[in-house]
Amino acid sequence: MMKLFDAHCHLQDPRIINKTPELIKTAQDSGVLHFAVNGVSEQDWFSVKQLSVTYPSVLPSFGLHPWYVAERSPNWLKTLKEYFDSTPSAAVGEIGLDKGSQGKKIDFSQQVEVLRKQLELAKELNKPASVHCVRAYGDLLELMKSVGPFPAGVVLHSYLGSAEMVPEFSKLGAYFSFSGFLMSLKANKAKKMLKMVSSDRMLLETDAPDALPKSNIDSLFFVEGDTSLDNEVHGQTSTSSSTSDSSAANPSQVLTDASMLPKDTLNHPANIHNVLDYVASMLEITKEELAELSYQNAVRLFSYEGSKLLQK
Ligand SMILES: [Zn+2]
Repeated sequence: MMKLFDAHCHLQDPRIINKTPELIKTAQDSGVLHFAVNGVSEQDWFSVKQLSVTYPSVLPSFGLHPWYVAERSPNWLKTLKEYFDSTPSAAVGEIGLDKGSQGKKIDFSQQVEVLRKQLELAKELNKPASVHCVRAYGDLLELMKSVGPFPAGVVLHSYLGSAEMVPEFSKLGAYFSFSGFLMSLKANKAKKMLKMVSSDRMLLETDAPDALPKSNIDSLFFVEGDTSLDNEVHGQTSTSSSTSDSSAANPSQVLTDASMLPKDTLNHPANIHNVLDYVASMLEITKEELAELSYQNAVRLFSYEGSKLLQK
């Protein structure tokens, strides 16, 4: 069986936490051996740590995500450092910059200040950092140049930046991680950018429970009990049930493409297979080749001092 490594996800997310044991089991059964689980705020670092204690396959990361910068406590950096002291197996993340619809509500100079401190910390601790970036790749590059380079690596998670910036980020130690969000880029643009990424810097991720791939519905795993899905399926089926009872029983006959689902439909970590298929098709290589190289890249990146990957 192909081995896969989910280089960035959020299995501690409150929307799925009571399903996490099943999600991990299903994804593992499909070949996903490791999950880099990223905290986003002081509120969830503890549950990330708990998951890591419970599941050998969970690699913890702690960080303050730009969306939560405004609500940070005065002690956030001290608390974060304490987490790294007590959890040597942890990496840094999720951290970043966001000028998108969510991020523009958060003061940008504060985002930069919080990111700078965490990039400095990652560098000092010699750990990889997982970075979120929306509409701020120029600012990110500038900041990474001033703090970097990063010999322990930086994961540009759900990378959607330009092809032209790939070599500049690479020089600083970046890895490029692809999720279902890649399917929102035009295919020719995605192709051009993917072909700029060298094969030793390529990673795959789900960002679950976000970033549901826009794949054929029959090929996707759904999170059981996802209420957004229930509503949509009921809405869809109630309009067609008067003509056909069988379509009401099988929603996949009504809905064929995930882009027809509600935006908040939850993503399952086993859907990394859909990301694998898509990226492999863009790169015109086999999915076995891409699985192998992305797995090896992730193992190399996450084999920093203290990592659970070195404890086995
Ligand atoms: Zn994320």
